[in-house]
Amino acid sequence: MDMTDYETSGFGMGTIIEQRIAASNSNEGERICHRAFEVIRQLEQKMSRFIPGSFISRLNSSDGETAVKMDRDTFHVLKSAGRYYARSGGAFDITAAPLTALWRNCINQKDLPSPNTIQALRPAVSGAGVILNEKDGSARIGRHQSVDLGGIGKGYAADMVLKAYKAQGVTSACINLGGNVHTLGKKTNGESWMIGLQNPRSTRGDFIAVFAISDRSAVTSGDYEKYFESGGKRFHHIIDPGTGYPASSGLMSATVLSGSSMEADALSTAVFVSGLERGMELIEKSPGAEGVVITEEKKVFITKGIKDCFVARSDIPDYQFAFYN
Ligand code: ADP
Ligand code: MG
Repeated sequence: MDMTDYETSGFGMGTIIEQRIAASNSNEGERICHRAFEVIRQLEQKMSRFIPGSFISRLNSSDGETAVKMDRDTFHVLKSAGRYYARSGGAFDITAAPLTALWRNCINQKDLPSPNTIQALRPAVSGAGVILNEKDGSARIGRHQSVDLGGIGKGYAADMVLKAYKAQGVTSACINLGGNVHTLGKKTNGESWMIGLQNPRSTRGDFIAVFAISDRSAVTSGDYEKYFESGGKRFHHIIDPGTGYPASSGLMSATVLSGSSMEADALSTAVFVSGLERGMELIEKSPGAEGVVITEEKKVFITKGIKDCFVARSDIPDYQFAFYN
């Protein structure tokens, strides 16, 4: 059957969402992409901390004693977040919410918070405070705690969109939720999807390498998306739960490839917080995950399992590429 490539973009989860799918005609393409937007919108309604009445908003405004009933999706993401919290030794922590909210404001206003403000919020940050009850699908958090699924929700949404594509018979698709990319099958010309690795110190769309992937997700966390500069330092939106400050682990970006976009999303954030050694260790102990980190010295380290799908650009001499271990 002759397939056409249908492309569309829209807005959701606070970002631009692009879809490209192979469909038998553009009507069908439109219908399937519309359905995918619906999937994303519904997940956002459940999990956004900005939408009053979402399951997460209800959890965040609970008194710390009463368990709050979640739906299946939100419960699953909370449970997975707990797993990444444990695996990353606390680098990925959805209870960093008070700090991520503070820094979000600070970045918008280009204004540093006082050390006292940060110290006052730190006691509430502990992923161990999220108590999940499998029996009734409810969640509970400590009295002063709140959760933020900003580091994992887009990945889960990408996984659910791929599931919806498959259920409708789609065999070739790529969805990009603000840099959180997931791919199904290959392009209609039979080639893998080519996903650019952003140069962290250049204009958007300026790549230092590309990944050729299919049926895998690629997610990057970096210090260049949302930030401001003060006193020659960069203050960005990925927070080290251990310090209360934007992570300064020596990396400019961390990219994780995985068959699960939720995993790639959570791990890219965790690797960025953890730095080169601990970050690479985290990838190595995650079966099926591969990764690339870019250090502040412009050294690009890639895991060995990635070499067949990683193509470095040869015309950017200031970046040096090497395998890690
Ligand atoms: P982006 O959302 O910009 O694509 P990330 O996936 O790295 O990038 O997620 C960053 C978001 O995750 C922040 O905006 C914040 O909501 C949340 N976050 C920040 N630091 C952490 C952390 N250490 N653990 C879990 N979530 C975090
Ligand atoms: Mg993330």
